[in-house]
Amino acid sequence: MNDIIIIGAGTAGLSAAIYARRAGKKALILEALSYGGQIINTPEVENYPGIKNISGFDFATGLYEQAADLGAEIEYVRVTGIESNADGSKTVHTTDGDRECKAVIIATGAKNRPLGIEREEELTGSGVSYCATCDGAFYKKKSVAVNGGGNTAIEDAGFLSNFCSKVYVIHRRDEFRADVHEVEKLKAKENVEFILDSEVTALLGDDELTGIEVTNKKTGEKKELEISGLFIAIGQMPDNTAFASVVDLDEKGYIIGKEDCLTNTPGVFTAGDCRTKAVRQLTTAAADGAVAALAAAAYCG
Ligand code: NAP
Repeated sequence: MNDIIIIGAGTAGLSAAIYARRAGKKALILEALSYGGQIINTPEVENYPGIKNISGFDFATGLYEQAADLGAEIEYVRVTGIESNADGSKTVHTTDGDRECKAVIIATGAKNRPLGIEREEELTGSGVSYCATCDGAFYKKKSVAVNGGGNTAIEDAGFLSNFCSKVYVIHRRDEFRADVHEVEKLKAKENVEFILDSEVTALLGDDELTGIEVTNKKTGEKKELEISGLFIAIGQMPDNTAFASVVDLDEKGYIIGKEDCLTNTPGVFTAGDCRTKAVRQLTTAAADGAVAALAAAAYCG
């Protein structure tokens, strides 16, 4: 019997594992893909207190090693559901059988939101990407576009502008969610062009992306841009349907949980981007991990 099972090895989950181990609890992390979560694909992190600058990969690896060194175990399996038993213990169903524990922390983060336009799926991997850090190197000295106006889009555009000949930033409004400081830094780059109040309305090319059609939302004017790569960075969405029978979700699918990381089911806690919250940042994910783990440790007794 594990004390605490943590679902998800992103910043929230790994932070929870560190706190659970330091509280003397047996902690098992179940991860469907690979450790690190969303931050592993971020080129540079410059707003984690105490660390001036670090790559997302190094940050995630450091966190993973810290949790592993403290004795947290990790298994790469997909969780398909959670059952709360009559004695208060939990059964976690996975694609590789069941795991038993006293308390569960759901820290599943969020996944990339697709644009939802025709041929998006077909051209993913052939010019359409959701990860500038992973795929950016394929576009050295080429023209690319980034779609979105949040921190991810602005940081991705900054990263790509270091080696692509031209970077278009296409955003549906003329104001940004991204930090002002980052937007100003990007505006100063000569090979970056902002196309605002605009949406990507078509993907062009046969087997490979060769361009996009962009439509100005205010004027209706359409134009075609010749590009080799389109990086879609229009936010995330949660992936919590497997837990809908054990915890309440809001209308967007986020687990309802406040700063105390409690859900409506005793012994089931939630941490990080998968829960309802106002600020989704590395710092708040790490903080949630600590709060959820200490609450879960208290539940275990
Ligand atoms: P985000 O902040 O939710 O921004 C998504 C952007 O995509 C917004 O500009 C939004 O436009 C646009 N958008 C949404 N749906 C769209 C659609 N269907 N078509 C076109 N545009 C669409 O997402 P994010 O940038 O991925 O960031 C997620 C969270 O992680 C945020 O809290 C962010 O601050 C954080 N983050 C932090 C860092 C960092 O601090 N270093 C780095 C990356 C991410 P509107 O503005 O018009 O809604």
